[in-house]
Amino acid sequence: MNEDRKGETKLRASRGQKARIGLYALIIALLLLAIVLSLALQAEPIRCENRLSEKLPIPVPTELNDGKGVLTLVMLDVGQGDSLLLISPSGKTMLIDAGEEEAFSAVDSALAAYGIRRIDAVVATHPHADHIGGMADVLRDYSVGTFYMTDFSATTPTYKRMLRMLRKNGCAVYRTDAETEIAWDDAVSVEVLNPIPEQVYEDANNASIVLKVTYGDVSLLLTGDAEAKTEMLLVGAYGAEKLKADVLKLGHHGSRSSSCAAFLNAVGAKYALASLGKDNDYGHPHESVLNRLAARGMTLYRTDESGCVAVFTDGTRVCVVP
Ligand SMILES: [Zn+2]
Repeated sequence: MNEDRKGETKLRASRGQKARIGLYALIIALLLLAIVLSLALQAEPIRCENRLSEKLPIPVPTELNDGKGVLTLVMLDVGQGDSLLLISPSGKTMLIDAGEEEAFSAVDSALAAYGIRRIDAVVATHPHADHIGGMADVLRDYSVGTFYMTDFSATTPTYKRMLRMLRKNGCAVYRTDAETEIAWDDAVSVEVLNPIPEQVYEDANNASIVLKVTYGDVSLLLTGDAEAKTEMLLVGAYGAEKLKADVLKLGHHGSRSSSCAAFLNAVGAKYALASLGKDNDYGHPHESVLNRLAARGMTLYRTDESGCVAVFTDGTRVCVVP
Protein backbone atom coordinates (compact mmCIF):
# COMPACT_ATOMS: atom_id res chain seq x y z
CA MET A 1 0.00 0.00 0.00
CA ASN A 2 1.49 3.36 -0.89
CA GLU A 3 1.64 6.35 1.51
CA ASP A 4 -1.36 8.11 -0.07
CA ARG A 5 -3.63 5.07 0.36
CA LYS A 6 -2.50 4.67 4.00
CA GLY A 7 -3.34 8.32 4.68
CA GLU A 8 -6.75 7.94 3.03
CA THR A 9 -7.53 4.83 5.12
CA LYS A 10 -6.52 6.63 8.35
CA LEU A 11 -8.72 9.58 7.40
CA ARG A 12 -11.70 7.29 6.70
CA ALA A 13 -11.09 5.48 10.01
CA SER A 14 -11.04 8.71 12.02
CA ARG A 15 -14.19 9.93 10.23
CA GLY A 16 -15.87 6.62 11.12
CA GLN A 17 -14.80 7.03 14.76
CA LYS A 18 -16.14 10.58 14.90
CA ALA A 19 -19.47 9.44 13.44
CA ARG A 20 -19.67 6.65 16.05
CA ILE A 21 -18.85 9.07 18.90
CA GLY A 22 -21.53 11.43 17.57
CA LEU A 23 -24.05 8.59 17.47
CA TYR A 24 -23.19 7.54 21.06
CA ALA A 25 -23.54 11.16 22.23
CA LEU A 26 -26.95 11.37 20.55
CA ILE A 27 -28.11 8.09 22.18
CA ILE A 28 -26.90 9.28 25.61
CA ALA A 29 -28.64 12.63 25.13
CA LEU A 30 -31.89 10.87 24.14
CA LEU A 31 -31.64 8.56 27.16
CA LEU A 32 -31.10 11.54 29.50
CA LEU A 33 -34.08 13.31 27.92
CA ALA A 34 -36.24 10.21 28.42
CA ILE A 35 -35.19 9.99 32.10
CA VAL A 36 -35.93 13.70 32.71
CA LEU A 37 -39.33 13.40 30.98
CA SER A 38 -40.33 10.29 32.93
CA LEU A 39 -39.33 11.99 36.23
CA ALA A 40 -41.38 15.06 35.28
CA LEU A 41 -44.42 12.88 34.48
CA GLN A 42 -44.10 11.07 37.81
CA ALA A 43 -44.04 14.37 39.75
CA GLU A 44 -46.71 14.87 42.39
CA PRO A 45 -49.94 16.38 41.04
CA ILE A 46 -50.44 20.01 41.98
CA ARG A 47 -52.15 20.34 45.36
CA CYS A 48 -54.62 23.06 46.28
CA GLU A 49 -53.64 23.77 49.88
CA ASN A 50 -55.29 27.06 50.66
CA ARG A 51 -54.68 28.31 47.15
CA LEU A 52 -57.33 25.88 46.09
CA SER A 53 -58.05 26.06 42.49
CA GLU A 54 -54.90 25.13 40.63
CA LYS A 55 -56.34 21.72 39.88
CA LEU A 56 -59.89 22.94 39.22
CA PRO A 57 -62.04 22.13 37.40
CA ILE A 58 -61.49 18.46 38.23
CA PRO A 59 -62.53 16.56 35.07
CA VAL A 60 -65.45 14.13 35.22
CA PRO A 61 -63.99 10.59 35.33
CA THR A 62 -64.31 8.93 31.93
CA GLU A 63 -66.34 6.01 33.35
CA LEU A 64 -69.14 8.47 34.23
CA ASN A 65 -68.80 10.64 31.18
CA ASP A 66 -71.15 8.72 28.92
CA GLY A 67 -73.47 11.58 28.07
CA LYS A 68 -75.73 11.05 31.05
CA GLY A 69 -75.99 14.00 33.40
CA VAL A 70 -73.53 14.10 36.28
CA LEU A 71 -73.97 15.80 39.64
CA THR A 72 -70.72 17.26 40.98
CA LEU A 73 -69.84 18.17 44.55
CA VAL A 74 -66.52 19.91 45.13
CA MET A 75 -65.25 20.23 48.69
CA LEU A 76 -63.06 23.32 48.29
CA ASP A 77 -59.78 23.53 50.14
CA VAL A 78 -60.42 26.56 52.35
CA GLY A 79 -58.06 25.50 55.12
CA GLN A 80 -59.79 25.29 58.52
CA GLY A 81 -63.41 25.88 57.48
CA ASP A 82 -66.05 24.63 55.07
CA SER A 83 -67.07 25.52 51.55
CA LEU A 84 -68.86 23.12 49.22
CA LEU A 85 -69.76 23.73 45.60
CA LEU A 86 -72.57 21.73 44.00
CA ILE A 87 -73.19 21.68 40.27
CA SER A 88 -76.32 19.94 39.01
CA PRO A 89 -76.50 17.83 35.83
CA SER A 90 -78.14 20.78 34.05
CA GLY A 91 -75.54 23.25 35.34
CA LYS A 92 -77.39 24.77 38.31
CA THR A 93 -75.00 25.96 41.03
CA MET A 94 -75.10 25.92 44.82
CA LEU A 95 -72.52 27.16 47.31
CA ILE A 96 -72.77 25.78 50.84
CA ASP A 97 -70.67 27.97 53.18
CA ALA A 98 -67.73 30.13 52.15
CA GLY A 99 -64.92 29.45 54.63
CA GLU A 100 -63.14 32.13 56.66
CA GLU A 101 -62.92 35.69 55.32
CA GLU A 102 -59.36 35.04 54.08
CA ALA A 103 -60.65 32.03 52.15
CA PHE A 104 -62.74 34.18 49.83
CA SER A 105 -59.98 34.42 47.22
CA ALA A 106 -59.92 30.63 47.14
CA VAL A 107 -63.70 30.37 46.77
CA ASP A 108 -63.60 33.12 44.16
CA SER A 109 -60.93 31.42 42.05
CA ALA A 110 -62.74 28.08 42.33
CA LEU A 111 -65.95 29.67 41.03
CA ALA A 112 -63.93 31.29 38.25
CA ALA A 113 -62.35 27.94 37.36
CA TYR A 114 -65.87 26.55 36.85
CA GLY A 115 -66.92 29.65 34.89
CA ILE A 116 -69.59 30.54 37.48
CA ARG A 117 -70.78 34.17 37.69
CA ARG A 118 -74.23 33.51 39.11
CA ILE A 119 -74.89 31.18 42.03
CA ASP A 120 -78.44 29.85 41.99
CA ALA A 121 -78.55 28.93 45.67
CA VAL A 122 -76.28 29.87 48.57
CA VAL A 123 -76.55 28.17 51.96
CA ALA A 124 -75.06 29.49 55.20
CA THR A 125 -75.20 26.42 57.47
CA HIS A 126 -74.57 28.40 60.68
CA PRO A 127 -73.10 31.76 61.65
CA HIS A 128 -69.53 30.75 62.61
CA ALA A 129 -66.71 32.61 60.86
CA ASP A 130 -65.11 29.46 59.40
CA HIS A 131 -68.35 28.97 57.41
CA ILE A 132 -69.66 32.48 56.69
CA GLY A 133 -66.41 34.49 56.81
CA GLY A 134 -66.18 34.66 53.02
CA MET A 135 -69.93 35.08 52.51
CA ALA A 136 -70.09 38.90 52.49
CA ASP A 137 -67.56 39.01 49.65
CA VAL A 138 -69.45 36.30 47.74
CA LEU A 139 -72.62 38.42 48.08
CA ARG A 140 -70.68 41.54 47.03
CA ASP A 141 -69.21 39.98 43.88
CA TYR A 142 -71.76 37.42 42.67
CA SER A 143 -75.32 37.45 41.50
CA VAL A 144 -77.20 35.10 43.84
CA GLY A 145 -80.60 33.52 43.21
CA THR A 146 -81.74 32.47 46.66
CA PHE A 147 -79.96 32.60 50.01
CA TYR A 148 -80.78 30.08 52.76
CA MET A 149 -79.89 30.57 56.40
CA THR A 150 -81.41 29.70 59.79
CA ASP A 151 -83.00 31.70 62.60
CA PHE A 152 -79.93 31.02 64.71
CA SER A 153 -78.25 34.41 64.56
CA ALA A 154 -75.04 35.96 65.87
CA THR A 155 -73.84 39.39 66.95
CA THR A 156 -70.36 39.15 65.42
CA PRO A 157 -69.05 41.74 62.92
CA THR A 158 -68.75 38.88 60.38
CA TYR A 159 -72.44 38.03 60.70
CA LYS A 160 -73.52 41.68 60.59
CA ARG A 161 -71.45 42.28 57.46
CA MET A 162 -73.08 39.25 55.83
CA LEU A 163 -76.54 40.68 56.60
CA ARG A 164 -75.54 44.08 55.16
CA MET A 165 -74.29 42.45 51.97
CA LEU A 166 -77.46 40.33 51.76
CA ARG A 167 -79.50 43.55 51.62
CA LYS A 168 -77.17 45.04 49.01
CA ASN A 169 -77.20 41.88 46.88
CA GLY A 170 -80.97 41.92 46.68
CA CYS A 171 -81.29 38.13 46.47
CA ALA A 172 -84.26 36.30 47.98
CA VAL A 173 -83.51 35.26 51.58
CA TYR A 174 -85.12 32.29 53.30
CA ARG A 175 -84.83 31.39 56.95
CA THR A 176 -85.02 27.68 56.43
CA ASP A 177 -85.64 24.60 58.55
CA ALA A 178 -86.51 20.94 58.21
CA GLU A 179 -89.92 21.65 56.69
CA THR A 180 -88.28 23.05 53.58
CA GLU A 181 -87.24 21.44 50.33
CA ILE A 182 -84.81 23.65 48.45
CA ALA A 183 -86.05 24.03 44.87
CA TRP A 184 -82.83 23.97 42.89
CA ASP A 185 -82.90 21.53 40.00
CA ASP A 186 -85.82 19.33 38.96
CA ALA A 187 -83.53 16.29 38.70
CA VAL A 188 -82.03 16.69 42.18
CA SER A 189 -83.80 16.70 45.53
CA VAL A 190 -82.30 18.93 48.24
CA GLU A 191 -84.00 18.29 51.59
CA VAL A 192 -83.31 20.22 54.77
CA LEU A 193 -83.14 17.77 57.70
CA ASN A 194 -81.96 20.23 60.36
CA PRO A 195 -82.79 22.49 62.18
CA ILE A 196 -85.97 20.75 63.24
CA PRO A 197 -88.87 23.18 63.87
CA GLU A 198 -89.78 23.74 67.54
CA GLN A 199 -86.48 22.20 68.60
CA VAL A 200 -84.40 24.44 70.87
CA TYR A 201 -80.72 24.57 69.97
CA GLU A 202 -78.24 25.88 72.48
CA ASP A 203 -75.33 26.36 70.14
CA ALA A 204 -74.73 27.34 66.54
CA ASN A 205 -73.00 24.10 65.53
CA ASN A 206 -75.96 21.94 66.46
CA ALA A 207 -78.35 24.32 64.73
CA SER A 208 -76.45 23.81 61.44
CA ILE A 209 -78.44 23.33 58.26
CA VAL A 210 -78.11 19.64 57.36
CA LEU A 211 -78.85 18.84 53.73
CA LYS A 212 -79.64 15.57 52.05
CA VAL A 213 -78.94 15.85 48.33
CA THR A 214 -80.35 12.99 46.26
CA TYR A 215 -79.80 12.34 42.58
CA GLY A 216 -81.20 9.08 41.25
CA ASP A 217 -80.15 6.34 43.67
CA VAL A 218 -77.28 8.33 45.16
CA SER A 219 -77.42 10.57 48.23
CA LEU A 220 -74.99 12.98 49.81
CA LEU A 221 -75.45 14.04 53.43
CA LEU A 222 -73.94 17.43 54.24
CA THR A 223 -73.95 18.20 57.93
CA GLY A 224 -72.34 21.62 58.50
CA ASP A 225 -70.87 21.52 62.01
CA ALA A 226 -73.63 19.37 63.54
CA GLU A 227 -72.37 17.49 66.58
CA ALA A 228 -73.40 14.25 68.27
CA LYS A 229 -76.36 15.90 70.02
CA THR A 230 -77.94 16.83 66.69
CA GLU A 231 -76.82 13.58 65.05
CA MET A 232 -78.78 11.66 67.72
CA LEU A 233 -81.72 14.01 67.22
CA LEU A 234 -81.66 13.20 63.48
CA VAL A 235 -81.41 9.45 64.13
CA GLY A 236 -84.46 9.72 66.42
CA ALA A 237 -86.44 11.98 64.09
CA TYR A 238 -85.77 10.25 60.76
CA GLY A 239 -84.32 6.79 61.33
CA ALA A 240 -81.80 4.99 59.17
CA GLU A 241 -84.03 4.80 56.10
CA LYS A 242 -84.12 8.57 55.70
CA LEU A 243 -80.52 9.23 56.75
CA LYS A 244 -79.02 6.61 54.44
CA ALA A 245 -76.40 8.19 52.16
CA ASP A 246 -73.47 7.17 50.00
CA VAL A 247 -71.30 10.14 50.92
CA LEU A 248 -71.17 11.88 54.30
CA LYS A 249 -69.54 15.27 54.78
CA LEU A 250 -68.46 14.84 58.40
CA GLY A 251 -69.78 17.32 60.93
CA HIS A 252 -67.41 19.82 62.51
CA HIS A 253 -64.27 19.05 60.49
CA GLY A 254 -63.80 15.55 61.87
CA SER A 255 -63.95 16.69 65.49
CA ARG A 256 -64.55 14.00 68.12
CA SER A 257 -67.72 15.84 69.13
CA SER A 258 -69.31 14.65 65.86
CA SER A 259 -69.63 11.47 63.78
CA CYS A 260 -70.92 9.36 66.65
CA ALA A 261 -71.27 5.61 66.14
CA ALA A 262 -75.09 5.53 66.01
CA PHE A 263 -75.18 8.26 63.38
CA LEU A 264 -72.49 6.62 61.22
CA ASN A 265 -74.41 3.33 61.45
CA ALA A 266 -77.66 4.98 60.39
CA VAL A 267 -76.08 6.83 57.45
CA GLY A 268 -74.11 3.80 56.33
CA ALA A 269 -71.98 5.87 53.93
CA LYS A 270 -69.06 4.39 52.05
CA TYR A 271 -67.24 7.68 51.65
CA ALA A 272 -66.53 10.39 54.21
CA LEU A 273 -65.39 13.93 53.49
CA ALA A 274 -63.65 16.25 55.96
CA SER A 275 -62.73 19.88 55.40
CA LEU A 276 -59.91 21.08 57.62
CA GLY A 277 -56.66 22.99 57.74
CA LYS A 278 -53.29 21.29 57.69
CA ASP A 279 -51.78 20.96 61.20
CA ASN A 280 -54.80 22.77 62.66
CA ASP A 281 -54.82 23.75 66.34
CA TYR A 282 -57.94 21.69 67.06
CA GLY A 283 -56.49 18.26 66.40
CA HIS A 284 -59.02 17.64 63.59
CA PRO A 285 -59.69 15.02 62.46
CA HIS A 286 -59.76 13.28 65.83
CA GLU A 287 -58.25 9.82 66.08
CA SER A 288 -61.46 8.42 67.58
CA VAL A 289 -63.36 9.56 64.47
CA LEU A 290 -60.74 8.00 62.18
CA ASN A 291 -61.13 4.75 64.14
CA ARG A 292 -64.93 4.85 63.86
CA LEU A 293 -64.69 5.40 60.10
CA ALA A 294 -62.12 2.62 59.68
CA ALA A 295 -64.22 0.19 61.73
CA ARG A 296 -67.05 0.72 59.21
CA GLY A 297 -64.81 0.40 56.17
CA MET A 298 -65.41 4.03 55.20
CA THR A 299 -62.87 5.84 53.03
CA LEU A 300 -62.04 9.34 54.23
CA TYR A 301 -61.08 12.17 51.88
CA ARG A 302 -59.71 15.29 53.56
CA THR A 303 -58.74 18.70 52.24
CA ASP A 304 -55.64 18.99 54.45
CA GLU A 305 -54.15 16.03 52.61
CA SER A 306 -55.71 16.18 49.14
CA GLY A 307 -56.61 19.83 48.62
CA CYS A 308 -59.94 20.12 46.80
CA VAL A 309 -61.89 16.85 46.58
CA ALA A 310 -64.60 16.20 43.97
CA VAL A 311 -67.49 13.74 44.16
CA PHE A 312 -69.19 12.81 40.90
CA THR A 313 -72.34 10.76 40.45
CA ASP A 314 -74.53 9.85 37.51
CA GLY A 315 -77.30 8.83 39.88
CA THR A 316 -76.10 5.24 40.04
CA ARG A 317 -72.35 5.25 40.46
CA VAL A 318 -70.16 7.44 42.67
CA CYS A 319 -66.58 8.52 41.92
CA VAL A 320 -64.48 10.49 44.39
CA VAL A 321 -61.46 12.27 42.98
CA PRO A 322 -59.05 13.62 45.61
ZN1 LIG B 1 -66.73 24.86 61.39
